[in-house]
Amino acid sequence: MCDHCGNQEMETAESQEAARREKLKRIRHSASHIMAEAVQSMFPDAKFAIGPAIADGFYYDFDLPRPLTDDDLATISAKMKEIIKANVPFEHSSMSKADALEYFGSRGQTYKVELINGIKDEEVSIYKQSNFTDLCAGPHVRRTGECKHFKLTSVAGAYWRGDSTKPMLQRIYGTVWPTKAELDAYLAIQEEAKKRDHRKLGKELDLFFMHPYAPGAIFWQPKGYTIYQELHKLWSEVQRGEGYVEVYNPLMYDAELYKTSGHWDHYQDAMFKLDVDEKTMCLKPMNCPDTMLFFKQHKHSYRDLPLRVAERQVLHRNELSGALSGLTRVRQFMQDDAHLFVMPEQIEDEIGRLLKLIAKFYEMFDMSYKFYLSTRPDDYMGDPALWVKAEEALANALEKNNIKYKLNPKDGAFYGPKIDIELQDSLGRQIQCATIQLDFQLPERFQLEYVTADNSVARPVVIHRAIFGSYERFIGILIEHLAGVFPTWLAPVQVAFLPITDHFVDYCNDLAKDFEAAGIRTYVDDRSEKIGYKIRQTEMQKVPYMLVIGQKEVDAKLVNVRTYKDGERGTMTPDELKAEVLDRIQNRTLDVNIKKLDLEAFAHDEAEEETDNY
Ligand SMILES: [Zn+2]
Ligand SMILES: [Zn+2]
Repeated sequence: MCDHCGNQEMETAESQEAARREKLKRIRHSASHIMAEAVQSMFPDAKFAIGPAIADGFYYDFDLPRPLTDDDLATISAKMKEIIKANVPFEHSSMSKADALEYFGSRGQTYKVELINGIKDEEVSIYKQSNFTDLCAGPHVRRTGECKHFKLTSVAGAYWRGDSTKPMLQRIYGTVWPTKAELDAYLAIQEEAKKRDHRKLGKELDLFFMHPYAPGAIFWQPKGYTIYQELHKLWSEVQRGEGYVEVYNPLMYDAELYKTSGHWDHYQDAMFKLDVDEKTMCLKPMNCPDTMLFFKQHKHSYRDLPLRVAERQVLHRNELSGALSGLTRVRQFMQDDAHLFVMPEQIEDEIGRLLKLIAKFYEMFDMSYKFYLSTRPDDYMGDPALWVKAEEALANALEKNNIKYKLNPKDGAFYGPKIDIELQDSLGRQIQCATIQLDFQLPERFQLEYVTADNSVARPVVIHRAIFGSYERFIGILIEHLAGVFPTWLAPVQVAFLPITDHFVDYCNDLAKDFEAAGIRTYVDDRSEKIGYKIRQTEMQKVPYMLVIGQKEVDAKLVNVRTYKDGERGTMTPDELKAEVLDRIQNRTLDVNIKKLDLEAFAHDEAEEETDNY
């Protein structure tokens, strides 16, 4: 039992989790050795690079005489099964460095030789199973039989030591789990994740595309941009209700701005710079510094605070080209960003409001979330008394709102404590989107001031906050979370009219016009195709409402309704349907079935280091 919180369960759960991770690491790294042995038996001249355990499996990099095929993976996998069935032990020993250089050198293992030369100790650690011997610090499982529940998943190219000037190796990825049930569950999630990949669905649903002429930037198709705009509309409404003002600042700034803010020293590598009029100008990578200029433009009194300033503006960050990926890692994006200027005594209230807002947002999409409070690091800046007060305010706000959170001691930024919000999507993945960050430094650097009630001058505290994070990233997550099935209010097409023959196109067009005028997005499929084909196509586009119109409907002045969520709904009058759709739009109803694969154990731990045991 913990003396401080009276909680026994949590501590046990945490140590169990640590033990589980340790076990997973051992079987994963051991599986990589077994795979290497299988590869050695197929390619006696294979050269071995490294084979670490990673977040959800393992890999090994090989230098092979020819490219691997899918058939090779099956052969390697079969050979691994033999080794596992033989249940041979992993034997640990050591060699002097000289002996190891001789041993691996005489076998042409040039990568191992390079690794050995980089080891400082006089002795090196060796692991051996059957006739495969590897330079390895371990630890391993006892016998190969413990790696029974594995699967090889893919082959990729990888440069030796991640250096593009070095030779390109072949990397085989695999996964392995303690039980068959866990392996099956993991593979099922991977299958589902593949189907839901936002890059794949983005193409199928015609939401966005990318082009090599604009690397790291998104071309939003009309359908995707509709979603973008709906989210923005939602934001504007909420912010107006919460007393925010919106500004629209420039995109390009003199580098002096970032020297003042301090970003120049830490962040300039990620900034796009241009030479203009013999000055260095920068495309802004964040809205914070220019929002400080906005604040300084007027004199402020304590009565103006909290001053909540939102800005929706294009940001650019020079992400490495190799890191770019779909909507989740881009160079050009927009944040749902805001900066709140507050008096220190307003922090708690303001944070409480933000926490409620965040909870409301994620619940709108049925996403689960976790809160983390990060406190003062050793290299902090600013007044320690203010830090203490601010941390207390953050903790109070969390507690008063009955929000459970985890403490990340000393994990705050040097300029202020923060609350991170990690959301869990329907594939069980933890994703960091929202942050509430307190900042004592920017007000200092920009010499921000307000006049207090007793007519003296004081410095405000800045709260940075983003809830979606970036629109791009959030839409990417949303596509995968919803498996491409958007609720009516977000759906690019809300109601599709499907005339059974050309004969009914006019009736459909008239109805569609009426629906559009009411604020409903419609589509009339006036192609001369069979109705079955039209229905299938509309289903594939995941349109929430589908109306099949034939003679019967025209005569009775009715519509025959099918919904994506509930299937066949029977006939209604157009006005009844219109009222239902408008109600769902106005209330932003989450009218979709979300299939959750809520398996935390399988969550990707992206922070986990990919280090080899040498
Ligand atoms: Zn090893
Ligand atoms: Zn900011």
